[in-house]
Formats: sequence, C-alpha cells, structure tokens
Amino acid sequence: MVNKTNAQARQATATPTTISISQLRKDFRGAVIGPEDADYDRARTVFYGGIDRHPAVIIKPVNAEEVARVVSLARETGMELAVRSGGHSTAGHSVSEGGIVLDLSAMKDLQIDPKSRTAWAETGLTAGEVTTAAAAHGLAIGFGDTGSVGIGGITLGGGVGYLVRKHGLTIDNLLAAEIVTADGQILEVDEKNHPDLFWAIRGGGGNFGVVTRFKFRLHEVPSIVGGMLILPATPDTIAGFIAEAEAAPEELSSIANVMFAPPMPFLPPEAHGKLIIFAIMVYAGDTEAGQRALAPFRALATPQADMLKPMSYPEIYQPEEGEYHPVAAARTMFVDSIDRSVAETIINHLQASSAAMSVAQLRVLGGAMARVPADATAFAHRKSRIMVNVAALYEKPGDKAKHEAWASDFAAALQQSDKGLYVNFLSAEGEARIRAAYPGSTWDRLASIKARYDPENLFRLNQNIAPAVP
Ligand SMILES: Cc1cc2nc3c(=O)[nH]c(=O)nc-3n(C[C@H](O)[C@H](O)[C@H](O)COP(=O)(O)OP(=O)(O)OC[C@H]3O[C@@H](n4cnc5c(N)ncnc54)[C@H](O)[C@@H]3O)c2cc1C
Repeated sequence: MVNKTNAQARQATATPTTISISQLRKDFRGAVIGPEDADYDRARTVFYGGIDRHPAVIIKPVNAEEVARVVSLARETGMELAVRSGGHSTAGHSVSEGGIVLDLSAMKDLQIDPKSRTAWAETGLTAGEVTTAAAAHGLAIGFGDTGSVGIGGITLGGGVGYLVRKHGLTIDNLLAAEIVTADGQILEVDEKNHPDLFWAIRGGGGNFGVVTRFKFRLHEVPSIVGGMLILPATPDTIAGFIAEAEAAPEELSSIANVMFAPPMPFLPPEAHGKLIIFAIMVYAGDTEAGQRALAPFRALATPQADMLKPMSYPEIYQPEEGEYHPVAAARTMFVDSIDRSVAETIINHLQASSAAMSVAQLRVLGGAMARVPADATAFAHRKSRIMVNVAALYEKPGDKAKHEAWASDFAAALQQSDKGLYVNFLSAEGEARIRAAYPGSTWDRLASIKARYDPENLFRLNQNIAPAVP
C-alpha cells in the first residue's frame, strides 16, 4: 500500500516500466491497450487536436470494481491518472503523458424508469445516446449542444444546454451518483449519503473521485420547436437577439454563434463569408406557443436560413464528423449585457482574426438555472446572465501564440463586472482562472472536501482544486 509521505516523490519518479501490460491483461476483463498495440494511436486520441500525449497504458474497465482497481493502481504506482468519459476536455485533461488513462467509454449501461421519470446512466454514455434513449419515452434531460460530449465530464462541471432555462443545469437534475474515491472505495452519494461529496461533484469536476454512474431526473419533453435560424450579424441584430432571448419565456433556450458563414449548402451564395448569427434554438413546450416565442427572432432581419420547426428533442443535435479534431484557442466568461457597443466589439474582434474559423458564442441564461441558490451546488454562477465563449479554430499548431493572444485580447475587451467563469469551457489557463470558476466560499468548501476524500491529490489531471492544508 501507499506510504503517504512518499506519495509526492513517487509521483515524480514513476515510469512506464513500473507496470506490466501483459499482467494487466490478465487482471482486467476490460481492454488494456499499450504502446505496442495497433489501436494505441486511436485510443490515445482525444477530441481536441494539438494534444499528442503517449500514456503508458489505456485501461477500459467494464464495471465499478475494475474502476476501483485502476484507481488503486495509480495510487500504488504514483503514475499520473487521466480520467476520460467522452474525451472532450477543453484543457486536454483526458490523456496523460507517460501515465494511465482510465477510459470509461465501455461503461454504457442505461436504465430508464419512465414511471418515476428517472434514469441510472453509466458514465461512458454520450449526451446524444442518453438523449435519444430518453426521447423514446417522451423524456429528456439537458446536457450541452453536442451529442458526442460524454455525460461524465459535462455533468461533473455543471451542464449548460438547450433546456437550461426551462429545467436548469444537468446537475440540477442529478439525484445520486456512484463514485470511486481515491482510496478505492465505491460510494453511493446523494442528499443524505455523503452530502458533502454529492455537493462537490455537482460542479467541482473530476477532483473528488471517478463517478461510474449517475441517477438523473428526467422531464417530459415530447417535442420541441427549434432548430437553426441564420441571420445577418450586425450590431443591431446581435443586440436585438440578446434582448429577445432575455425577454423570451423560459421554455426558450438558445445559442447564438456569431461567425463568418461557411459555404453551407442551405445558405444563399452571397451570404458565404459574411458575418452571421448562427443560432440554434429550442422551445421546450407547446408548438403554437413556441412559434409565437420564435417570431421576434425571425423579425430581427430577413433570415438567411430558417429551419425552425416542430421536432423531437434529439434532432437538435447536429450530425458530427467522426475524425474532426480542431485545435482551439478559446476563452470563456460571463457578461451582464450585450448592447450595440458590445456587439460592435464582437464584430471588430472577429474581423481581426486570421484563424480558419473564429466565433463568439452567446448564451442567455436565467430561468430555472437562476432559481437554485448559489451555494446549493459547487456551480455558483446562478445569477450570471450571459455566457460568452470566444474561440479561434486553426490548423497549424505553430500559430498557437498568435491565436491565443487574439482570444485573450477579445476576452479582455468583453470583460464586464461578472468575473466568474464556467469550468467546463476553461482551457489550461492556470490556477487564478480555476479559482474564478469557484468564487467566494465555494473554493474553500471544495478544498476542504478534497482534503477529506483525496488528501494526496491523486485526481489532479483536471481543473485542479488542491486539498486544503489542515
Ligand atoms: C464540441 C464541444 C461542445 C461542448 N458543448 C458544451 C455545452 O453545450 N455545454 C456544456 O456545459 N459544456 C459543453 N462542452 C464542454 C464539456 O462539458 C466539457 O469539455 C466536458 O468536460 C466534456 O466531458 P467528456 O466526458 O466528453 O470529457 P472528458 O475529456 O472525458 O472528461 C473531462 C474531464 O472530466 C473529468 N471526468 C470525466 N468523466 C469523469 C468521471 N466519470 N469521473 C470523474 N471525472 C470525470 C476528468 O477530470 C476529465 O479530465 C463542450 C465541449 C466540446 C468539446
């Protein structure tokens, strides 16, 4: 077993030679992939490009007991542990250089109980998979805007998606979880059992253990009115879109991407290359009321494409390219308002970008999410009004400095009084930025729970909250 006083030293000195791949293959039912294996390169690839790390081993456990054994292996060898569900970490945290990747993607059991409107979902499922299965019962829970994102990472950070104003964050619908802690125990946590840990995992990310399955509350969402609306982007349409989204009923959540129009077949050729608002909208309610709620957006300007229509909720997830691995320079923040002058700032910065694609993504919050007290979960930004993500997607890793500087300048130009940020969109930006995700007493409370459940910081390849010093 681990001698606690030597843990740090072992972390520094452990090398891949401390494990035997062939022995691990005997120990685990799940797949064990080493550098010599044909599928090693595929298995070490994560969603974002430009992350080229070579783990000593990738282990894909099939159940919580096997997860606990991987956690113990990391503890006992001192090797760095990367925990991966869907592999979409913005900061590249789901693959380790020289360490162990605990890849949970084989754990996909899903038990939906339509009567109680609840579901137990293993962490290897994607947002799209749970959404599609729940919709077969006319039910839904909000994750994010992309079907391939893993439910593990998105839930543990909060979960801001197309139902956020109507049904809150993903964590607002989390009823319980099964978690493997640093000492290898398997705990079930909820409001009554280990309430401190249950509080921490609702926003605190992967700092406290490996969640193997989640129990979610589902909502009746038999159909929606929504889809894509594309408008020309001007200071007036951007500010107008935000004003309408704030005034809209809570049933309506939307994501407005201000960007240059790619040559999409459904856009008139004269729109290609011009600045557009590429909005994806969901009205989760009655069809007629939905059409009424969407009318003011359609009236902001003549739409260049209007694909808003009644549909089933899973249809909102756009088809994805299998081998799409963008390199991104991104910043996330909250702002209080977007008026004409802020809209002009957005347009000016997008025009100054030299990236293949640059975008400012605007999400009006509020509604159910804002009614949860700020200290009820580790996601404290309940009163934040608008989330903004700016990103440059580029191809040549050598251009990194240029695009990172652009993203930083853009974010600085948009900064208003809300200094918080949402951890799941945070890149690798240092401790001050992680602290901004956990303002006020949230950080101290998380650090003390971390000290109780993970005093040696075994789970450290994440937006790390170091254990409080006693
Ligand atoms: C294209 C894209 C679109 C996105 N859209 C949205 C959106 O609309 N809304 C939103 O809220 N977020 C969104 N995100 C951010 C997303 O929520 C985070 O990147 C999230 O961490 C991804 O989860 P994952 O399981 O796919 O990632 P992973 O890379 O597998 O995990 C990310 C981190 O979470 C932790 N983790 C994951 N699973 C577990 C587990 N079971 N137990 C313990 N720790 C775990 C680990 O620390 C890991 O490093 C988006 C990201 C991308 C790339």
